[in-house]
Amino acid sequence: MATTKTSEAVKQLHHLSAALKAPRIIEAAERLADTARDAGWSYEDYLAAVLEREVSARNASGANQRIRAAGFGARKTLDDFDFDQQPAVRQQIAALASGGFLAEARNVVLLGPPGTGKTHLAIGLGIKAAHYGHRIAFATATEWVTRLSGAHRAGRLAAELTKLRRYGLLIVDEVGYLPFDQDAANLFFQLVSSRYEHASLILTSNLPFSGWGGVFGDQVVAAAMIDRIVHHADVLTLKGASYRLRNRGIDSLPSIRAETQAN
Ligand code: ADP
Ligand code: MG
Repeated sequence: MATTKTSEAVKQLHHLSAALKAPRIIEAAERLADTARDAGWSYEDYLAAVLEREVSARNASGANQRIRAAGFGARKTLDDFDFDQQPAVRQQIAALASGGFLAEARNVVLLGPPGTGKTHLAIGLGIKAAHYGHRIAFATATEWVTRLSGAHRAGRLAAELTKLRRYGLLIVDEVGYLPFDQDAANLFFQLVSSRYEHASLILTSNLPFSGWGGVFGDQVVAAAMIDRIVHHADVLTLKGASYRLRNRGIDSLPSIRAETQAN
C-alpha cells in the first residue's frame, strides 16, 4: 500500500519536475529519499537538499554560459597563475578575486611588459566575475573601438553604451598596442565615461600611464580618461621577463647550448 503510494508520488514528481524544466529535482528527490528516511531528516531538510541541487546546477550552467559569451580568447584561471613569478600582486589579486570591486563599480588596471600575465589575470578575474553572476565582455581596445564606431555610424552609440552598462564587467585588453586616431580616442573616452561609477572595467596595457597621451593623440584627453579610470581603481604593475620566453630564453643561452652539445 505504502509502496503504491510512493510510486504514484514518484511518477508525479517526474511529471512536476519536467513541467518545471528542473530535471535535477526528480533526480535528487529519488536519490536523497532513502538517505533522508534513514537519517531521519525533517521534511524541510529534505526539500532544501533537493532544491539545493537544482539551484547549484543552474548557477554553474549560468556561469559557464556567461564565460562562453564573454569572448575570452582562452580560458585562463587564477588557479593556473604562478604567483611566484609575480609575488608583488599576489595579495591584490586575492582581494580582487572575492569580487567586491564589481559591486562597487571599481576598475582594475594591469600594467607591465609583454608576457607578464596581464591578459591571463584579466581573464581569470573575468571568470570569477561570471561565477558571481556578472555578465562580461572581453575584447582588445581596438576591437572595442571598432564595435563602438559601428554603432556610432548606425546612429545608435548611446543605445550601445546603455546596453553595455548591463554588463557588470568589460575587459579592455591591450590599451596602447595601437595608437588611436581622434575619432577612436573620442569613442574610447565615451566608453570610459559611461562606465564611470556605474560598472567595472579591467584594462591592460604595456605602457605606463605617462605613455597614454601618445596612444590617444592628446595629453588632455588621455589625462581626463586616466582620471576617470583611476579615481576608483586598483592599479597593479607586473614586472619581469616574458613568461612566454622564459624557457626558450634559457634554452637559447649560448653557454647552455654548448653544455648540451658537449654531453
Ligand atoms: P601579457 O598579456 O602580459 O602579454 P599573457 O597574460 O598573455 O601576457 O601571458 C603570456 C602567456 O604566459 C599566457 O599563455 C599566460 O597564460 C602565461 N603566463 C604568464 N604569466 C604567467 C604566470 N605567472 N603563471 C602562469 N602562466 C603565465
Ligand atoms: Mg596580453
